[in-house]
Amino acid sequence: MMDLSIPTLQFTDFVVFAISAVVFFVCWLLQPMKRHFLLFSASFALCAGLSVWFVDFGYYGSVWSTVGWVLASSLFWSGFRVFDGRSPVTLAMVLFGLLPAGAHLTAAAVGLAGDQVNMASTLAYAMHEAAVARYVYTAGVPRSPTRKLAAFALLMIAVAICLPLLPIPAEQAPQMVIVIFIVDHITTILLTTLILALEAERAYLAMEHQARTDPLTKVLNREGLSQALKGHCGHAGFILADLDHFKSINDRFGHAAGDEVLREFAERAAALMPEGGHIARLGGEEFVLVVTGREVPATVCLAEALRLIVQRLPIPWNGGAIGVTVSLGVALSNSRSELLTVLERADGALYAAKQAGRNRVRVA
Ligand code: GH3
Ligand code: MG
Ligand code: MG
Repeated sequence: MMDLSIPTLQFTDFVVFAISAVVFFVCWLLQPMKRHFLLFSASFALCAGLSVWFVDFGYYGSVWSTVGWVLASSLFWSGFRVFDGRSPVTLAMVLFGLLPAGAHLTAAAVGLAGDQVNMASTLAYAMHEAAVARYVYTAGVPRSPTRKLAAFALLMIAVAICLPLLPIPAEQAPQMVIVIFIVDHITTILLTTLILALEAERAYLAMEHQARTDPLTKVLNREGLSQALKGHCGHAGFILADLDHFKSINDRFGHAAGDEVLREFAERAAALMPEGGHIARLGGEEFVLVVTGREVPATVCLAEALRLIVQRLPIPWNGGAIGVTVSLGVALSNSRSELLTVLERADGALYAAKQAGRNRVRVA
């Protein structure tokens, strides 16, 4: 029969905590700018120490036990906040962190019995754990199932630490401590795996975003546009925009100036885009703007507005300014239009705009 004695579980709990601390420490060594790894490592290292220090597991006889566990929990909370790009500590966190020790000391100071002091600090500690779970569940975008599971694991800890408070016969008390240990093992392994999974999830999303984005102007690239328009079969307005004599801007002001013109053009176009629209750089100095829904009839007006804002506001560069104009071709699609055909028609209109002398809008 399996022996689940408290000393055995204490040892394995220590091992599990220590492994998690080492894993996050190594992650931090490999990527030192990710400070959340260091905070998670410190949290689990402290848990490892506490699991062997305090043999009164499940019963917070010493205020230092409460302080230690809440500190470990706070480091974990800070780790998640830093992972989310937030400040590691807030005033509310500090107040919440002081609550369990405060409850313990106050209960002892007013002369309550040991059991009642333990109950006060246990409940306050469980509330702290639940607050961390709440943060993990509600903060962070996107709210992935991985994150929800991590919040659930934290909530399991909050529930488990309250088990010894149940009115149970004294001889069953060790079983409650065993349950806490088992929950501790499971949640530590789960939380470590889930944090690493969240890290991988984030890297995947960043890669996916990168694959869809033009690195210079930060608008969509060709692939990003086809992804954005996938499944769209309604009316849409397409504006193909090509900067005029752009090669001569590069020749006169240098390539860096050309890049700045492209960035500024993309920014102005994006600022004019109605909601639900898309802007993409097809390559070189050629962009496409797609408007959908109720905005479609206003496509030509949008093209004209973009032409004017480019022509009227020269682009600041090196203390001076670069005058730029743009030619635009407009084509409207209906539900049966193929993306390629609409772009071809818009390209035809753009060619006509160039032929007619540039700095103008033509409709297919
Ligand atoms: P047109 O009015 O007929 O459109 O003439 P144009 O000079 O704008 O067109 P052309 O196709 O002759 O030249 C496009 C130039 O755009 C050539 C290329 O060096 C430059 N270019 C393409 N990509 C980039 C880029 O990322 N940055 C910069 N600075 N220049 C680029
Ligand atoms: Mg051009
Ligand atoms: Mg071109």
